[in-house]
Amino acid sequence: MKYDTVIGLEIHAELSTDTKVFCSCSAQFGGMPNTHICPVCTGQPGALPIINRAAVEYAIRAGLAFGCDINRYSRFDRKNYFYPDLPKAYQISQLDLPLCINGKLELSTGTVVRINRIHLEEDAGKLVHDDYHGESWADYNRCSVPLIEIVTEPDIKSAEEAAEFVSKIGLYLKYLGVCDAKMQEGSIRADVNVSLKPEGSEKLGDRAELKNMNSMRSIIRAIEYEIKRQTEILDNGGKVEQETRRFDDAMGTTSSLRSKENANDYRYFPEPDVLAITFTEEDIENARRNIPLLPHERVYKYVNEYKLTDEDARVITLEKYISDFYDETVAIYPEYKNVANLFLTEIMRRVKDTETEEIPFSAKDFAKVVEMADKNTVNRNDAKTIIRIMFEEGGEPMEIAKANGFIVEVDTGAISEFIDNLLKERADLVEDYRNGKQNVFGFFMGQATRGLTGKATPKDIKEYLEKVLKG
Ligand code: ADP
Ligand code: MG
Ligand code: ZN
Repeated sequence: MKYDTVIGLEIHAELSTDTKVFCSCSAQFGGMPNTHICPVCTGQPGALPIINRAAVEYAIRAGLAFGCDINRYSRFDRKNYFYPDLPKAYQISQLDLPLCINGKLELSTGTVVRINRIHLEEDAGKLVHDDYHGESWADYNRCSVPLIEIVTEPDIKSAEEAAEFVSKIGLYLKYLGVCDAKMQEGSIRADVNVSLKPEGSEKLGDRAELKNMNSMRSIIRAIEYEIKRQTEILDNGGKVEQETRRFDDAMGTTSSLRSKENANDYRYFPEPDVLAITFTEEDIENARRNIPLLPHERVYKYVNEYKLTDEDARVITLEKYISDFYDETVAIYPEYKNVANLFLTEIMRRVKDTETEEIPFSAKDFAKVVEMADKNTVNRNDAKTIIRIMFEEGGEPMEIAKANGFIVEVDTGAISEFIDNLLKERADLVEDYRNGKQNVFGFFMGQATRGLTGKATPKDIKEYLEKVLKG
């Protein structure tokens, strides 16, 4: 029997606000355990939450970028459950009136993934298990860090599509400046719902939910394992349990964690301590104004205005800091293609696998190198060497060029002497040229460029040759 794979994702993204969502504690990642806490985020009796405006604005900025409708009236709900990382024993979340509904995001396969909702909620703390001593410790620094949960419709058709969706969401959130999308720090994580249905059938099958996947690789491996496991069950006439499973990275397998909970289990009720949110059109327009050019819009601009190739434009926009650096450079020196060429060959390959997201020199210095190469202040190969030195040792481009003898010193005396001689020696060719043999010019250019290395730029040579030949 052949099956279609059906996947729906619930992506949690931590918002990069300075403070938490219901108190003024720092929302920074890390820190000494239990130093970013207060009576509100640890749920002390009588403490009252106050909503963080920035978190709300970030959430609707994301919603608008993904084409969502923004609910003009939105409310919080209390989701009750007990777990030691949740000192209040409930999470403030949103159930039936989330901030954003009905968005979508298209994948490179052409699949349009509908986004059912984006709601705002608070994160839980973190348990640190010390298996050696058999102890567990609770760190509440992360309690109440703002999260958005992005819930898709079950529109995703393969493990690769799921991974692309998660990484695309992360990239867009980074461009929007609302989340740093570092999977390894858990600032973006995904629950993956997987089911199979007979090929072509309309009716969805029973699904398993894989919790808290925190790398692209595990998302792909877990889904592939799940497809295999469910195929076997269905082929043998069995029924897939609706359950929550966990993926074991080392084994590459999933195992049952618990049977699927449903909304009733959480005894949701309207959160009495947090006011409902209403938006005016002006609030929404303000959030819209804070949306920068998104990756696909930057690609469009690079291709149509800057005349880069589609491929080059895509590569540059794959990381926000890369694309920002390119934009900064061309703002200083608007030779779009020349900047892109040196950028792609000399910068991209050096920063490709670094995690720091940092280019160790300024856009101004990089613009200077491109300009020096364009104006033949240095030759193109030496320009590349300058960039290498800027990466490895730092320094200012002009200083590096001088220190290494890269500067082409134009010597007008030498130009006229060399070319006059050359033309005298090859008077026959000069004759040919004047009789209409245009390609002789190229021969003279080649000879003179070689003979005048370090003393003239091709531009100087060309100008002088034209002057004397056309006389
Ligand atoms: P719950 O509230 O029980 O978690 P939802 O209806 O909110 O269920 O769906 C949660 C996620 O599961 C959504 O991303 C949705 O697309 C996905 N999903 C629902 N049904 C299926 C299915 N049969 N197969 C795969 N994913 C599914
Ligand atoms: Mg769910
Ligand atoms: Zn606090």
